[in-house]
Amino acid sequence: MIAFVSTPRFVEHDGGPHHPECPDRLRIIDRALRQTGLLNGVDPFPEFAHDLGDLPTFRRQLLQITPKPADRKWVSLVHRVGYIEHIESVCKAGGGLLDQGDTPVCPASLDIALLALGGVLQACDAVLTGQVRRAFAAIRPPGHHAEPDRPMGFCLFSNIAIAARYIQQQYGVERVAIVDFDVHHGNGTQAVFEADSSVFFCSIHEHPRTCYPGTGFAWEIGTGRGRGYTLNLPMDAGCGDVEYLRVIESRLVPELDEFMPEVLLLSAGFDAHVDDPLADMKVSEEGFELITRTLAAVADRHCQGRVVSMLEGGYNLRALGRSVVRHLIGLGAR
Ligand SMILES: [Zn+2]
Repeated sequence: MIAFVSTPRFVEHDGGPHHPECPDRLRIIDRALRQTGLLNGVDPFPEFAHDLGDLPTFRRQLLQITPKPADRKWVSLVHRVGYIEHIESVCKAGGGLLDQGDTPVCPASLDIALLALGGVLQACDAVLTGQVRRAFAAIRPPGHHAEPDRPMGFCLFSNIAIAARYIQQQYGVERVAIVDFDVHHGNGTQAVFEADSSVFFCSIHEHPRTCYPGTGFAWEIGTGRGRGYTLNLPMDAGCGDVEYLRVIESRLVPELDEFMPEVLLLSAGFDAHVDDPLADMKVSEEGFELITRTLAAVADRHCQGRVVSMLEGGYNLRALGRSVVRHLIGLGAR
């Protein structure tokens, strides 16, 4: 059984017209999962029309979990004092840009970001208590660029880093692995765990020479006690399924087998898709399924299959909806 964590409320975070991290990203995922039969019930977005083409159909449905807002105390597991208050003040003033300029918020954004984080933590609870083996949280805003002291790159809270700390604290788990296959380097997650040997972090992404945020070189391998627990796998522009799978099989899987995580967390971004407007990679929808399948097999070997996956990027709507379906198949949705 796979848990699916999401709510129509995630569309309330709105960075304004023309922003690629847009509310329709959630609508297209909802539409795709309804078309396949993975979700049922009342369609929250009946007016939203978008042609997704042929999709597989499923007989079994996902276990739907409705997020509740996270307690603010969990944010402080990773972010500095005053971090929430800074976002709150911008939201209360009617919205605006946070820090670097590519992370706009509207009045509802803080509430929605806390709801997204809450959903991620509920996904962790569902997996760690054994209710389900795997969970996918279709959330926004995303999280993997947010650093301990600054929001950036459309990201407010470092959802996956908070989730790792939460699992360690609440469930006594010692070794957590995080794999980030969003096309952009997971700089925020890396910043949290760079000096930490209890969390293995791997980011596979378009090479920082040609892609935002300009970090994630192969020589970034962690610091101090965390040296060797950060693995960056930059990929040249134009790489596709074959190159991704080769690098994952030859470089990442052996490291995960050696680390032997107790839980696997995924920063699931789908912007390495060939049709994505923000990057230059050529991964297919089937490629995302194979990547997911390969990582899920690692979890089967070491973590009793426990995987908590959460949405990061993915900006071509059709590709995003279709890729999420493939990701769920890779996690074992059928
Ligand atoms: Zn991305």
